[in-house]
Amino acid sequence: MVKTRNNTRKVNVGNLQIGGQDRVIIQSMCSIKTSKTALVAAQINRCAALGAELMRVSVLDDEDADSIAALKQATSIPLVADIHFRADLALKVMEQGIDAVRINPGNIGDEEKVALVIAKAKEKGVPIRIGVNSGSLDPTLDPKLTREEKLVASAKKHVAILEKYDFHDIVISLKASSVLETVNAYRLAAETFPYPLHLGITEAGPMETGLIRSSAGLSPLLLEGIGDTIRISLSEDPEEEIRACKRLLHDLGLYPNFPSFISCPTCGRTQVQLVPLAKKVRAYLEDNNIPKTVAVMGCIVTGPGEAKHADLGLAGGKDTFVLFKKGEIVKTIPEAEAYDALIKAINED
Ligand code: SF4
Repeated sequence: MVKTRNNTRKVNVGNLQIGGQDRVIIQSMCSIKTSKTALVAAQINRCAALGAELMRVSVLDDEDADSIAALKQATSIPLVADIHFRADLALKVMEQGIDAVRINPGNIGDEEKVALVIAKAKEKGVPIRIGVNSGSLDPTLDPKLTREEKLVASAKKHVAILEKYDFHDIVISLKASSVLETVNAYRLAAETFPYPLHLGITEAGPMETGLIRSSAGLSPLLLEGIGDTIRISLSEDPEEEIRACKRLLHDLGLYPNFPSFISCPTCGRTQVQLVPLAKKVRAYLEDNNIPKTVAVMGCIVTGPGEAKHADLGLAGGKDTFVLFKKGEIVKTIPEAEAYDALIKAINED
């Protein structure tokens, strides 16, 4: 049983609540320069259709900042502007209707600039996400601290600046590319801050390594109740990140109303083309958001028995499949007709 989420402070990002609830928000980041508004909007909308509730866009220059209003018009989920060092860009995107900014107040210049950004964020009701990264840690931190302690200490410095101005709509992320460092840093952060935490393993790599690293790092935290929002960073399109987030959260019992798909690894007993069929069935279930448990197994010997809890499934024979329901065989079907028969049964059941 998953521990309920830690009781973090509730922060509103547009119409979306982060923290203070038993729900983990899925987010990703656009991979196209923000000033290419039409392309970015299309990417955001594709991600939203897949289940993204929040998207981050990089704001590098004035051109990017100036496109935020148009982007807000063309999309329907809250957007976070990722800004480094430039207070003027933070002010501009808030004027243009951004829902949140990711900026570290300790890095945007003198006290006057910080005060201006915080005042504008208060005026517009825009939360600030502090994002501390192990690759860019504050060099003035006590060298005796561990890297995990440095990540939290660095976040503390930024938080202190916001709190000094009585600003508390804060979300914190602490990113390291090492799984163990990330887990330890977030555990420490959960004890230290009342604010919602955004979880992620940064620079996790392409699909094969990225999925493993992110699952290894995020799962223990999520199971402990730590984490109010997640991103699974992959060197892939953001759509893949959204799919990965949904699968991980569902497997941890944190994303209901999503398909549970089971397929066997195949072995010497398999006498059908199982792998392409399994991928096709999984895609159908996920694309159509069918929250059923469906199994595609290689053989009749153990297939239905191993997948007893499946609502429906197929188990291979010699060039045939049997269709089964709750572990009981319904009928035998030629291999070429198996996909259509299963989909029909899924939709009828
Ligand atoms: S279900 Fe059958 S084919 Fe698949 S791995 Fe198990 S024994 Fe092998």
